[in-house]
Amino acid sequence: MKFNTKTIHGKQEPDKAYGAVMQPIYQTSTYAQSTPGGHKGYEYSRTHNPTRNALENALASIENGNYGLAFASGLAAIDAIIKLLKPGDEVISTNDLYGGTYRLFTRIFEGFGIKFHFVGMENVAKIESYVNENTKLIWVETPTNPMMNIIDIEAVSVIAKKHQVMLAVDNTFATPYLQRPLDLGADIVMHSATKYIGGHSDLVMGALIVNDKEIADKLYFIQNASGAICGPMDSFLALRGIKTLHVRMQRHCENGKAIAVYLANHPKIEKVYWPGLKNHPNHAIVKKQMDDFGGMISFVIKGNNYEEAIKIVENLKIFTLAESLGGVESLAGHPASMTHASIPKEEREKIGVVDALIRLSVGIEDVDDLIADLEQALSKITK
Ligand SMILES: *Cc1c(COP(=O)(O)O)cnc(C)c1O
Repeated sequence: MKFNTKTIHGKQEPDKAYGAVMQPIYQTSTYAQSTPGGHKGYEYSRTHNPTRNALENALASIENGNYGLAFASGLAAIDAIIKLLKPGDEVISTNDLYGGTYRLFTRIFEGFGIKFHFVGMENVAKIESYVNENTKLIWVETPTNPMMNIIDIEAVSVIAKKHQVMLAVDNTFATPYLQRPLDLGADIVMHSATKYIGGHSDLVMGALIVNDKEIADKLYFIQNASGAICGPMDSFLALRGIKTLHVRMQRHCENGKAIAVYLANHPKIEKVYWPGLKNHPNHAIVKKQMDDFGGMISFVIKGNNYEEAIKIVENLKIFTLAESLGGVESLAGHPASMTHASIPKEEREKIGVVDALIRLSVGIEDVDDLIADLEQALSKITK
């Protein structure tokens, strides 16, 4: 079955009770038993819920995995992965990663005796010098936020396999429409389903997809034992989101391309970060591991003036100034004052988050309207 059919039919079946084509919202915490232990596969909704299970199966299908797990948030899903480890274990992580992931690793799990090494993985060879007998996990996020750096998943997986270390990939930005990490050798795929999977900015959710039964069983145990599950209503919404993932992503990519080209040719713009541009430093890897280039774009205005960047994002009318990404509506953000404000200026500038960097999550509106909106906002600055 091809991807565009899987989003609608992959591991998805009509409801067993009445044949409802859309999985009903089983808004229940518990299930009647005929005799103690005599139930129809469901006892308590932290452990199993039919709506959540339907979503988990669909997630597994679109990522080419055997097992899917849904959580209360992306961070709850990452939390479950790190709970596979024990004190003394070490993790090698990308250094350019989602701020909340960095906070979870350093402010929560370092306190439990897990050691994290943050490494620039654009040069994959660097990873190997951090591997020792305590290394249990390599953590990769690609493309990264907001600099759109690309890491070669297949090359990292070769190192992970050689040293028998698990490889987990945060696939939130790419989605399985663009890249499928399990096929490239990863052991665990993670999503903030809050973003493109849900796709409508109406829920917060996380997901994990794995192939190996042993890892899956451990994660199901943690999911139930720690209990950071998502509810049936959100499961329904995410399942509904998956059904249009391919058509949404196709348009995100088309609009993303048109806007990246428009920005790259704009006289007031210094630099555009988008994996589809030929001058992207990792364009060769992009072409190898991604089927298209997505709708996430960052750019810097000439002169790198903080106030002018603020002026642009304030003047946008169709793009909403907001955190988050991946919904049908276009969003704009100013990392230096929003997502990366807590990082000292010197530190954030080292990774490229300069004062006049603006990040766009390009939605699926008419691209002419989006470009006209950017044009009028850019006309408000002098240079
Ligand atoms: C949003 C995000 C997360 C965290 O997910 P939540 O659903 O907000 O908990 C993790 N990784 C990436 C790349 C994200 O964009």
